[in-house]
Amino acid sequence: MKIPIDEAYLTKQIQALVQIDSINPDLEKGAAGEGAIANYVAQALTEIGITPQIQKVEGDRKNVLGVLKGTGNGKSLLLNAHLDTVGITGMAAPFSGTLQDGKIYGRGAYDMKASIAAMLAVMKGFVESGHQLAGDLWFTTVIDEEYGSKGMEHLVKHLHTDAAILTEPTQLRVCCAHRGFVWIEVKTQGRAAHGSRYNEGIDANMHMGRVLVELEKLSQALVQRTGHPLLGPPSMHAPLIQGGTSQSVYAAFCRVELERRILPGETVDAVVTEVQAVIDKLAAADPQFHADVKALFNRNAYEIAPNAPIVKTVQATAQQVLSTTPELYGEVWWMDSALLGEAGIDTVIIGPSGGGIHADEEWVEVESVVQLAHILAQSAISYCK
Ligand SMILES: [Zn+2]
Repeated sequence: MKIPIDEAYLTKQIQALVQIDSINPDLEKGAAGEGAIANYVAQALTEIGITPQIQKVEGDRKNVLGVLKGTGNGKSLLLNAHLDTVGITGMAAPFSGTLQDGKIYGRGAYDMKASIAAMLAVMKGFVESGHQLAGDLWFTTVIDEEYGSKGMEHLVKHLHTDAAILTEPTQLRVCCAHRGFVWIEVKTQGRAAHGSRYNEGIDANMHMGRVLVELEKLSQALVQRTGHPLLGPPSMHAPLIQGGTSQSVYAAFCRVELERRILPGETVDAVVTEVQAVIDKLAAADPQFHADVKALFNRNAYEIAPNAPIVKTVQATAQQVLSTTPELYGEVWWMDSALLGEAGIDTVIIGPSGGGIHADEEWVEVESVVQLAHILAQSAISYCK
């Protein structure tokens, strides 16, 4: 059984979705948010003949779901994409949706409105073909992936399926692992004093210098580790630093925020302990040195066994559709798949080809979106048995 994919419909839907501003309002104050695009997607499901289910997450920001109920006792599968995009600063025509030479341009074309269109085309294909799956097939779109993942956190509280395919862009490769991260604050404490009073002041900024020298050594050691077969070694950097209050005052504090990119199996406690060990060593060497370490925020890494049923299913169908063996790989950045995985839903990631994620010019290659739709449809047929 081959589910028909309406390529003209798919192309039109990518363009229409790109033309709707859905910039994440947590990323940019006053931005449009996901209300309008959610309404559009709900309407598109209705037109296909599927009753949309709306999950209000926050204000006018809502997830949109639809389900093709199985005939019974088959495995359930959800397809997922996010509705929001990053901002458009520097883009000449962010909402054009222009189709040229097989590419559609605009913010979100690649990350990831084309994937929403592919999922719609899959649902339409199943409805029109009349093909009945044994298990449920869920269409799910969520808000806020680009900032706080409130949409996915909400979704996994209310829906559980046996497996998921997250359709973030992967150039049609099969992604089965990604890194996580921990944001860590280190704060050195000094003692404020008039800039001339060297015998009273303790300079927290100078003390932070010692911390940074040691943390740089740690970060160099991290990237020497063997790491993960698909993700390489862990890493760390110091993106933010702030200290002192005034030109002629000894700095009473200095704080640095570290970002530690973590691998599957690495915990918040373990990475904080590594940094704490650096601080303890410096404190032992100088009674005037005081610093505190705390974790601010974290997102776990994700991995799924390459021989898990959903991975093997997607790999096999991708091979059929693409007539070549798709690469199995790990992604460097964090995705909502970690939240699906933590909710006990086996998740694999596959999405279209294109370029310009979060950049001045973004595009998706339409042919790859058509191929994605075929992969999703055939995967549902082989998985939802
Ligand atoms: Zn994305």
